[in-house]
Amino acid sequence: MKVLVCISHVPDTTSKINFKDDNTQFDTNGVQFVINPYDEFALTRAMWFKEKQGATVTVVTVGNSSTEPTLRKALAIGADAAIRVDTEATDGFSVAKQLAEVVKSGEFDVVLAGKESIDFNGGMVPGMLASFLDFNFVNACIGLEIEGTTATAAREIDGGKEIIKASLPIVIAGQKGLVEEKDLRIPNMRGIMMARKKPLTVATAIDVTSATASTSFEKPTAKGAVKLVDAANIDELISLLHNEAKVI
Ligand SMILES: Cc1cc2nc3c(=O)[nH]c(=O)nc-3n(C[C@H](O)[C@H](O)[C@H](O)COP(=O)(O)OP(=O)(O)OC[C@H]3O[C@@H](n4cnc5c(N)ncnc54)[C@H](O)[C@@H]3O)c2cc1C
Repeated sequence: MKVLVCISHVPDTTSKINFKDDNTQFDTNGVQFVINPYDEFALTRAMWFKEKQGATVTVVTVGNSSTEPTLRKALAIGADAAIRVDTEATDGFSVAKQLAEVVKSGEFDVVLAGKESIDFNGGMVPGMLASFLDFNFVNACIGLEIEGTTATAAREIDGGKEIIKASLPIVIAGQKGLVEEKDLRIPNMRGIMMARKKPLTVATAIDVTSATASTSFEKPTAKGAVKLVDAANIDELISLLHNEAKVI
């Protein structure tokens, strides 16, 4: 089984987000980048396939050289090899096109991704990737087993679980539940040392035009000052909630 894990390089959730160039560009100054959390679930599941079923695991990122520490972290966690497609990730369509080339040339039969990237939250890449490849696709998975050429995926549905069987090749978009949070791996010193020797291939991007472009970004309005109400003054609290906050 050849597993490809798509890794999005995203700002740490605690980062302070700012925009530049008249709010048209995300300002990366001072921002720490990490593996997209949903991709960490996918990578951890891939490690299980490697350790229990002898799969080979490659990680891929579409992005410039600043994304390489994120790929090295994935190698330190245990991936066998990494590929960086050398271009700026400018929209979901072009990213999915680039990833499709990697899947075709590497003949991967299982592609694991996250259900969304927590930077631009497009949720576009895995579905488009499956469509470009004509692979089966299951979105928002909370469980995945693979036996032979059959994948059994679990999805959370209102009040229960849906179990889906589909044949390989397949794209799976995972989320929390694909593995338990306690099973996520932190790279240890041995993993970090080994990662330095693992192959990180820089692939030339194919020629693709983005289908969308963000024209501007807006931050949410700043929160107003907190109003403190005396615990004994329930009437005032109700009046504020009713007349000012208009939530009751
Ligand atoms: C300089 C810059 C400019 C950008 N400008 C725009 C813009 O104008 N419009 C716009 O829509 N977006 C823009 N982006 C965002 C970027 O294109 C998206 O992060 C990327 O396209 C993913 O799309 P998505 O949000 O739909 O991903 P999702 O579909 O939400 O991601 C789902 C999964 O797909 C995989 N994936 C996503 N991105 C990558 C990646 N780069 N490499 C490997 N796997 C990946 C991951 O597994 C991820 O969990 C910009 C990013 C940068 C760095």
